[in-house]
Amino acid sequence: MIVIDEKRIFDEIEKRRPVSVALNGPDGLLPKIQETASKIMEKFDVPAYVLADTCFGTCDMNTNGAKVLGAEILFHIGHTINSTNFGESVILIDAYDNISFEKVARKCAVELKGKTVSLVTDSQHLLEIEKVKKILEEGGIIVKIGDGKGQLNDGQVFGCEFYPTSQTKNSVDANVFLGQSSFHAAGIALSTGKPTFILDPYFEEIREVTEFSEKLQKKAILSVYKAMEAETFGIVIGLKEGQFSKVTALKFKKELEKAGKKVQLFALTDITDDKLGNLKGIDAFIQVACPRISIDNHFQKPVLSTPQANALLKLLKNENIDGFLQIPHWL
Ligand code: SF4
Repeated sequence: MIVIDEKRIFDEIEKRRPVSVALNGPDGLLPKIQETASKIMEKFDVPAYVLADTCFGTCDMNTNGAKVLGAEILFHIGHTINSTNFGESVILIDAYDNISFEKVARKCAVELKGKTVSLVTDSQHLLEIEKVKKILEEGGIIVKIGDGKGQLNDGQVFGCEFYPTSQTKNSVDANVFLGQSSFHAAGIALSTGKPTFILDPYFEEIREVTEFSEKLQKKAILSVYKAMEAETFGIVIGLKEGQFSKVTALKFKKELEKAGKKVQLFALTDITDDKLGNLKGIDAFIQVACPRISIDNHFQKPVLSTPQANALLKLLKNENIDGFLQIPHWL
């Protein structure tokens, strides 16, 4: 069950007495966030708006939505990072899943006995990581937890940021991810080149995502090679606040023009195949927003993420692109 740290929200409202507040978080948490919003309205008699647009991370907090609504505080829920707030107006609220990993960790201890693994998870299961480490070690597994960096806590990854597993990749046999997210686990596999297992506490099963990640990798490489043939590129800047990379976009423009390509610049909030389909005369796109838009989705034309675009520039100079996704941060 997801548990939102409502006490911190209530204490903050009590202390600051805002005229109105806004709340948001990942799609999966919206029903819980609705409940919290209702409690705020009942307890404090102030409007509590739920910003219900898709929200994938702390890179996508929609502070503008809160501003337009006139909300004095935005409570951003569920993307636990190593900060508690962004300025006065954005408060980061923890939300943890209290499901136990005990049974699936014991299974894993038998399956991977004698191996050395890097133990890693996403925001919602961070509290379980030390408990699972103990179980695995008792079962004869050597467990490493890589250091956090930037916004990441120790043993935590985002969909595009993998510092803890990048740190341990040369000293482990495999990665073990706590949670249900194939999205995060596949990113770990791609960025480390190591076998990666999910410990799913709900189904109490261990799943390997290595094969799935290899398919994503093949697709990513194929797009880069297809883009080699393009004459006109569309470079798309994402307008979500934490994904805004105008400098990178202009760098790619300069490099591609040097290589004799034509470039048009675009900006979008949501980068989808439909939206890109409206743009004419473009052979391939580079989007400098969320790298997973390119890696995980299907597009009619090549749509490269930042690491893929860097690989393309290398290919255009006849340089080797081996392991271009095996980096700790895909931005
Ligand atoms: S993977 Fe995309 S949504 Fe997730 S943190 Fe990175 S840029 Fe944000």
